Amino acid sequence: MNGLEQHKPLTEHDHAGCIEDAMATAELLCRDSGLRFTALRRHVLALVWESHKPIGAYDILAGLRGEGRRAAPPTVYRALEFLIEAGLVHRLDSLNAFIGCPDPARMHTGQFLICRDCRTVTELADSDIEELVAEKARQRGFTAVRQILEIEGLCKRCSLCS
Ligand SMILES: [Zn+2]
Ligand SMILES: [Zn+2]
Ligand SMILES: [Zn+2]
Repeated sequence: MNGLEQHKPLTEHDHAGCIEDAMATAELLCRDSGLRFTALRRHVLALVWESHKPIGAYDILAGLRGEGRRAAPPTVYRALEFLIEAGLVHRLDSLNAFIGCPDPARMHTGQFLICRDCRTVTELADSDIEELVAEKARQRGFTAVRQILEIEGLCKRCSLCS
């Protein structure tokens, strides 16, 4: 079964193009940074990119098994860790799920607009917000090392439907 058919994006766009771009960017980024982009890591990234909705580790495992690949949970977790480290994937703590980064080449943390209805996630990656938060933290003598903003709400499409 083709996984892409099950997870059609809600917004009208050529999502095959998104996946292609994401895979090509990852390929380049890994090559330039001397990182090993193994078949498993590639598969996991492709599964994360199946849609603009976050995917949990168990769904990734199920996806790999659906493709007839044997993968133990620790192996998948390690592949995810690698992808997060490389900036290719972000982890959304509030959902305990993962989302592909559309702009991994640029160092950033990220702000995520999460639709509570359709679960579509839009990444802002706005450096102004990032700097503002870091500055506010600095003023309080706090050094920010990791900041991920998860903003819950309704996407344009879902707010039009409700
Ligand atoms: Zn897309
Ligand atoms: Zn990102
Ligand atoms: Zn929505």
